[in-house]
Amino acid sequence: MISALSKVTLLAASTLLLGACAQSPTGRSQMLLFSPQQMNQLGADSFNQMKQQEKVSKDAKLNAYVSCVAKAVTAQVPSSYGISNWEVVVFDSKQVNAFALPGGKIGVYSGLLNVAKNQDQLATVIGHELTHVLAQHSNERLSRDQLTGLGLAVADAALGSSQGSGAAMAALGLGVQVGVSLPYGREQESEADRLGLDLMARAGFNPAEAIPLWQNMGQAAGGKTPPALLSTHPSNESRISELSAELATATPLYQQARAAGLTPQCKR
Ligand SMILES: [Zn+2]
Repeated sequence: MISALSKVTLLAASTLLLGACAQSPTGRSQMLLFSPQQMNQLGADSFNQMKQQEKVSKDAKLNAYVSCVAKAVTAQVPSSYGISNWEVVVFDSKQVNAFALPGGKIGVYSGLLNVAKNQDQLATVIGHELTHVLAQHSNERLSRDQLTGLGLAVADAALGSSQGSGAAMAALGLGVQVGVSLPYGREQESEADRLGLDLMARAGFNPAEAIPLWQNMGQAAGGKTPPALLSTHPSNESRISELSAELATATPLYQQARAAGLTPQCKR
């Protein structure tokens, strides 16, 4: 008789053999053990739970502002990703945080707007978060934990057993809410920074604003309530210089977008 544990291991091993090796948009090889359907389900479940746990903002002006920026950026996501319906929710909270989940769910905490001070800086954060989704970073992180044996409970949740959605949320890095922080890896962060910048630039947002954004984030990190965003999106010293280098690619994309009439004017 095969124990539950070895079944999971067998499942993981066979999935691995069946072509779990994928490539990220920058050509990095990735191990992905979960199907897009499983990840989307996990995203939808976690998002529903977030909406129940957190206070959803009813501030019409604030919602219109965040939606305006999010819509402009998501419009630039190629249709090949198969996400046609992005859902955007603003949470009324002092937390400096934002996230995007598989299946096209975006959450922005109102506290983020004290750090992301204009539409271009907000677009920087949204572009970064969207890239984590498009590049399947949650799947990659969950797959890694699964193979090292850390992710069994989380994987069970992903596979639809009744482990509770706290595990599902942790699996997607919503760690602050459940007390387990699963940070993205360094390579994932670089990828999200670089591709996120290109994405927001294609929407007509000024990529140069990414530099003051991360400077603001760094300043906030020394304050009384350090940004929750930084616990799941670890910063490193080279972030600003890598972003500055990426401007060589993103700035022409921004100029082309503006010339083509993409001139978002989202107002707070
Ligand atoms: Zn990140």
